[in-house]
Amino acid sequence: MFDCHVHSNYSDDSKTKAIDHCNQAIKNNILGITFTDHYEIDYPNPKYKYEFDFNKRSQELNLLQKDFNKNLKILQGIEIGIQKHVIDDLTKISKSFDFDFILASIHCLDRQDIGNPNYYTGKDKKEFLTKYLQEIYYSAVNFSNFDVIAHIGYPRRYCNFTDNSMNYKDYTDLIDMILNKIIDLGKGIEANTSGYRYSLNGTIPSYDILERYHELKGEVLTIGSDAHTENNLGSFFEITKNNLKKIGFKYLTYFEKRKPVFYKI
Ligand SMILES: [Zn+2]
Ligand SMILES: [Zn+2]
Repeated sequence: MFDCHVHSNYSDDSKTKAIDHCNQAIKNNILGITFTDHYEIDYPNPKYKYEFDFNKRSQELNLLQKDFNKNLKILQGIEIGIQKHVIDDLTKISKSFDFDFILASIHCLDRQDIGNPNYYTGKDKKEFLTKYLQEIYYSAVNFSNFDVIAHIGYPRRYCNFTDNSMNYKDYTDLIDMILNKIIDLGKGIEANTSGYRYSLNGTIPSYDILERYHELKGEVLTIGSDAHTENNLGSFFEITKNNLKKIGFKYLTYFEKRKPVFYKI
């Protein structure tokens, strides 16, 4: 399988060298890695500066691709953090380099970091998740230069509500709107396996949402570990693959030069 969501030390929250991920991929029988280092504009947490030199990373990854030759495909992506007030700048940035893959993420809402557990104090779960899903829909409509929407349900990793679920049955209309829009645009979603590491007992989004995506004839689906350290590369891929097959998915996707490539599972 291809791990299409991996962070190296070009992301301000990872210290792992790209070569360490590549060596781990060989050990784990992963056929390809897409490096999706963070890029954010006006990120509200000053602790992190999510910018990197695209050309510098590209030189490093091109050399690695030579070294690993045919044993591993190394692809150059970006995880771009969408916020309404910087969409025009993000569009320009995302067009300034020939990425293989652009993963669009919602990590902030109302200029606040929703990866910070303190954000959730005093918030109503239904009201918050409704707003979060509306933000994803808005981003899918207004930020056109992406391939896949990352981890739908990302707040589940950090929110401290009595239960951290975000089930299809509780947000049917909004989730259908998002999934139908993504399918209409010819773009995709990801099965982010970090949910297992955050004790959520499954992927982000949860399997009921992936099932709905399949029902609506969604086909573009990447799998990503969201690894920031090499020990998490490709983690929980087998169990996820088996569950996706049970849902009815026959193929997964990776992107090369912004074009989807389907491979059988
Ligand atoms: Zn993310
Ligand atoms: Zn990520």
